[in-house]
Amino acid sequence: MAEIEFITTTKGKPSVLFSGHQYRIIRDIHGVVTWLCVNEKKQRYKGSIKTREGKLIASSEKPHVCSSQEAELDVQKKLHICRKRAREDLSIPVCEIFRREFMVCNFSYHIH
Ligand SMILES: [Zn+2]
Repeated sequence: MAEIEFITTTKGKPSVLFSGHQYRIIRDIHGVVTWLCVNEKKQRYKGSIKTREGKLIASSEKPHVCSSQEAELDVQKKLHICRKRAREDLSIPVCEIFRREFMVCNFSYHIH
């Protein structure tokens, strides 16, 4: 089964990355969390997954309407790592954290 990754968005919202798609929380019933692909229409419930205790327990049979965006999600993933590091280790300049992760320094993303 594909790897599932929990991140926090730039707005501080929980989000999940899974097989090239990004998901947001739709509902949480007794610890079973339903996530819907951020690019899908809510009514149709295509491209939804369920997790429990940080593990994937089900994924929608219905195919995504959107296409997978591995490259974009890779950036999201790295941004998440950078923000996390910036919070945890205040001794390293933010620019340096970004440089190590992205190999660039004049990066246009902002850390919140
Ligand atoms: Zn989708």
